Amino acid sequence: MKKTAAKKKSAPRNAPARVKTIVKLAPKKLMGAGEPPAVRVENGRGRAKCVIVCDHAANRVPRTLKDLGLSKAQLQQHIAWDPGTEDIGRYLSKALGATVVLASYSRLVVDLNRGHDHPELMRDTSDHVHIPGNVGLTAAQKKQRLDELFWPYHNEIDRQLKRFTSKGVAPVLISVHSFTPQMDGFRRPWHIGVLWNREEKIARALVKNLRRNSPDLVIGENEPYSLKAANFLKNTISTHAESKGLPYIILEFRQDLVNTKKKAEKWAEIFLESLRPILADKQLYTLRRRKA
Ligand SMILES: [Zn+2]
Repeated sequence: MKKTAAKKKSAPRNAPARVKTIVKLAPKKLMGAGEPPAVRVENGRGRAKCVIVCDHAANRVPRTLKDLGLSKAQLQQHIAWDPGTEDIGRYLSKALGATVVLASYSRLVVDLNRGHDHPELMRDTSDHVHIPGNVGLTAAQKKQRLDELFWPYHNEIDRQLKRFTSKGVAPVLISVHSFTPQMDGFRRPWHIGVLWNREEKIARALVKNLRRNSPDLVIGENEPYSLKAANFLKNTISTHAESKGLPYIILEFRQDLVNTKKKAEKWAEIFLESLRPILADKQLYTLRRRKA
């Protein structure tokens, strides 16, 4: 009873603040002079029939958003990005002659590996860290992040895939992520994780190749998390590969193994050795039949 009374009492005092939040204006443009565009493309005319994507390549926050109220140290943590993935993506792009699409901004600003209406798109807490700059976002602020960061990234992936599908070729979407070595007190043992939802055949072939080439590797099969989990049903892969019947591969590298350029490139090479025979199979580049 006491609690209810206190709540009722405080309501009028909170009201003006709430109104203030609602009328808060979004900045005219999120990014200013000298800041990179939402998405960067390298090897944009790459002939290899695959498109590499790095959704969480960067931990940058547009200056107008004032680091979302986080410290520089917090922005270095895994909650903000997937360290090492940009180096891996660029290495694969060069080695294969393939296009790589790289995000330029932190997943905390808007998580590109989600559906546009996903509740975790602009989360106000991530791995127990409170994100002040994402609290009480207005519809206009959310729309601005979608318009200036989310859609340009996904439109670019779409455009790159169409370079191939318009010629009747089904390109392989290769999605590169990295995972934190420790989560909720659990030390994750895997060096590399291979994930899949429907595309089990390619994933199994890749795991087999990795085991054969590097017997000491601890390989996560749909670990550190499964792509089949409901939470991940709407993501880059479901949007651009599964819904269009395109083949795909998703890799997760453990972050402590790839946190320098040299280390990232070493692990990219380990992956590449097992990937090449899969890409050499001409049967790969055909549209998947969608299951009802
Ligand atoms: Zn990621």
